[in-house]
Amino acid sequence: MDGTTPETKGELGFDPAAIRERYRQERDKRLRTDGELQYQEIVGDLSRYIEHDPYVAPGYTRAPITDEIDVAVIGGGFSGLLAGAHLKEAGIENIRIIEMGGDFGGTWYWNRYPGAQCDIESYCYLPLLEELNYVPKEKYSYVSEIFEHSQRIGKAYGLYDLAIFQTQVTATRWDETLKRWRISTNRGDDIKARFVMMCLGTSSRARLPGIPGITDFKGHSFHTARWDYTYTGGDTTGGMTKLADKRVAIIGTGATGIQCVPRTAEYAKHLYVFQRTPSSVDFRGNKATDPDWAKTLGPGWQRARRANFNDVFMGKRVEVDLVSDGWTDIARKLMSMPKSDKPLTPEQIGEMMEIADMEKMNGIRARVDNEVSNKDAAESLKPWYRQMCKRPTFNDEFLPAFNRPNVTLVDVSEAKGVERITEKGVVANGVEYEVDCIIYASGFEVTSEFSRRIGIPVIEGRGGQSLYEYWKDGFQTLHGFSTRGFPNWFYVGISQNGFSVNVTSVLDDQTKHITYIIKQAMERQAATVEPTQDAQDAWVETIRKLALTNRAFQQACTPGYYNNEGGQRTGSLNGETYTPGINAFNDLIAKWREQGGLEGLELRR
Ligand code: NDP
Repeated sequence: MDGTTPETKGELGFDPAAIRERYRQERDKRLRTDGELQYQEIVGDLSRYIEHDPYVAPGYTRAPITDEIDVAVIGGGFSGLLAGAHLKEAGIENIRIIEMGGDFGGTWYWNRYPGAQCDIESYCYLPLLEELNYVPKEKYSYVSEIFEHSQRIGKAYGLYDLAIFQTQVTATRWDETLKRWRISTNRGDDIKARFVMMCLGTSSRARLPGIPGITDFKGHSFHTARWDYTYTGGDTTGGMTKLADKRVAIIGTGATGIQCVPRTAEYAKHLYVFQRTPSSVDFRGNKATDPDWAKTLGPGWQRARRANFNDVFMGKRVEVDLVSDGWTDIARKLMSMPKSDKPLTPEQIGEMMEIADMEKMNGIRARVDNEVSNKDAAESLKPWYRQMCKRPTFNDEFLPAFNRPNVTLVDVSEAKGVERITEKGVVANGVEYEVDCIIYASGFEVTSEFSRRIGIPVIEGRGGQSLYEYWKDGFQTLHGFSTRGFPNWFYVGISQNGFSVNVTSVLDDQTKHITYIIKQAMERQAATVEPTQDAQDAWVETIRKLALTNRAFQQACTPGYYNNEGGQRTGSLNGETYTPGINAFNDLIAKWREQGGLEGLELRR
């Protein structure tokens, strides 16, 4: 290797300049001046899309609670369950998990659309497998198994007795006199908690596109986060026979659309799929767990597997790629650098990574041609952007669904989306498609204003300071977990810390770390713990400097929630993470714990 790139040698068999130009055109075509504001919050007349919980009997009531606890865990998805499990392991028992749904599970409680399945290998994704001596049935678990696993964690750690379900937090306020958080809920509770752990998930609030006329539609409609099986019939595995005489529209082809299209296509009289930006749909290759392999799993297997996955994903050379799937294939192809006699300049490295990306995406586009017989549909289904511009998807049934005579792909990219909803159906590219049912696979509040994403109207720290006001220009934290002026308050999720696409592993590490801080604060008899201003400022500066490296890449991307719909600002999902990765971040905070001084945190008695 002499330091020149394949592009200069003409060895590629494709023209990188032409691909680059096509990417630019496809991005520009989709850029909207309203950016993330194109989506509408589900409030007011639209509330019916989310307020109904199909999994509980109506009419639940209970007396308000006014007691005092050590730790309030807000949210009962995987982060809340992990928080509960780690707190209990640490001997902290006086806790309560407050959850809006009727059971644990979070995203997997609500998102029970047909075909819902984890995209990360289940042996890495499902938490506490080793602790609970459970090995998933398949390499990629379907929603029913994942939801059952949430319940398994709840039962094994005795968390059901500590949970209040069907309860929504309306305000959390710090009471300086009591040195307690006061938590108000829609059930009239006034719970006093010494510590709060915010375990709300990254995509827990559904959103709708700002398409005019949504409320005019006279047929049936719902969001994928509340799939209406009373209308469709069947369950998460299929059997939706009530759709046999129905014309159905699905709007959106992100990770959710990709999974629910094939099963809906199987049962609907006709299915129209409205696609603005195609997802990259890679090979899935699900398979049953080999029981002989499961017997070989020794102590520490899950932690080692997750770390290996994260290493491969960050482009680190490993002896063996344990997971060896679509995600690690992407990483191996995009991140592994060829051996070179001379040191490469950052520009050369960037160029090589871009070429590798093009090769990978050429493969994704070729897969579309192999799977879809209709040439026009195949052209529309090809993604023209760099692989990590949008969340990659993996599915073996989505593309073939477009070979069915009852499925029509409607490409709405030129018009930047669906035009309008009418009484009778969906208008796109000037054509009205009359349908009986519209299903919005339009995603979640990920990039919107923080208060909108979180959904708790009031979070007030010392002196009545609003968190939303304090974070209006981006997160202000130490390590992403705690923030000055909000004593004993901890944020779990993607903020200013290490990120992995295997989000549950991040939540596991985070909740363990926060439990450590809470335990330390209790043992040191501190009334409050919060970051010092200096430590917080230094951490924010570190994070922001690192984030800058990612910016040019994101700007060239087709719009989506990874790049704030084509706009850049701080506080987004991707803009502020610790870019050296989750393993590097975990090493950093492990060292911080080993030092034992809780450096950067101020403890007051
Ligand atoms: P996304 O936000 O990824 O997708 C929303 C879809 O709606 C996009 O295709 C978007 O198009 C489309 N859309 C929005 N507005 C319009 C419009 N006006 N007209 C036409 N189309 C429109 O949401 P998802 O629910 O698919 O996924 C959200 C996240 O949830 C995933 O990225 C993933 O993190 C998680 N998830 C994980 C799963 C797993 O692990 N198995 C499964 C499902 C979800 P465009 O792309 O052009 O904006």
